[in-house]
Amino acid sequence: MASPSLRLPDNVPGQFYVDSTCIDCDTCRRVAPDAFAQGDGHSFVAAQPADAKARRRALMALVACPTASIGMVSDARLAAATPAAEVRRASGAFPERVDENVSFCGYTAESSFGAWSYFVERPQGGNVLVDSPRAAGPLLKELERRGGVATMFLTHRDDVADHEAFRKRFGCERVLHAADVTSGTRGVERRLEGEDPVALAPDLLAIPTPGHTRGHAVLLYRERYLFTGDHLAWSARRGHLVAFRDANWYSWPETIRSMEKLLDSRFRFEWVLPGHGAWHRAGSAEEMRRELEKCVAWMRRVA
Ligand code: SF4
Repeated sequence: MASPSLRLPDNVPGQFYVDSTCIDCDTCRRVAPDAFAQGDGHSFVAAQPADAKARRRALMALVACPTASIGMVSDARLAAATPAAEVRRASGAFPERVDENVSFCGYTAESSFGAWSYFVERPQGGNVLVDSPRAAGPLLKELERRGGVATMFLTHRDDVADHEAFRKRFGCERVLHAADVTSGTRGVERRLEGEDPVALAPDLLAIPTPGHTRGHAVLLYRERYLFTGDHLAWSARRGHLVAFRDANWYSWPETIRSMEKLLDSRFRFEWVLPGHGAWHRAGSAEEMRRELEKCVAWMRRVA
């Protein structure tokens, strides 16, 4: 729970604020970019929401924040909407649709540094959760209402958060590469081995991409959506796809090799949906391939 006594001085005056427990994960800035901005190692409220839509986005950021660092003070002029009542309403906003049957789960977890996780509602074969959000009550309830979770794909060891709670609630099969299994995940039901792609279902292909960690893997859904964990993301600052050079725990040369592997014509996708960094949609699989080639060329330069 955010505390007014820890309110950061950068916040503009008004109802919303960020406190000093912020870990600078970027979630609020992406969920509500009109309200939140980046300061020196933290986020802050740069503009108080000016209308109902902006207010709703700010409330969604509050709900999605992994550390509960966003707070609201009561405002007597808004008698019909106490902060608690509004937050309760915003709690039901996730999972939020990204495209077609793919949604962003919100409710990020501190243990995965606010990594984003995704929910795929498949017409056949059961729903898929990609990486673990926080196992918050409203989210669990909503996932249940939408048919539960049959498969939980864990891209790598860092973003496993509350995987056990999801397994317990939904009985889902958890999938993780053997090289990233730790004492906390030794109970996963399915371990990927080696570096060859593994068809989990006709529409789901797991592709090992060692580099960020030794057992990192990405998930290709319907030859359209690539869930990339911490392997690949869009950088608004650079204006192209990137890998995380400064957060590379296993091997940068391996990361480059894994990125080159994604250029294989067997792997077609138009969307990149990462755990950290921005997502990106290209106009076509061919355009995405060109973006990826640009990324690989950049990676070789910064090697
Ligand atoms: S979502 Fe929370 S932890 Fe992340 S940057 Fe915003 S205030 Fe900080």
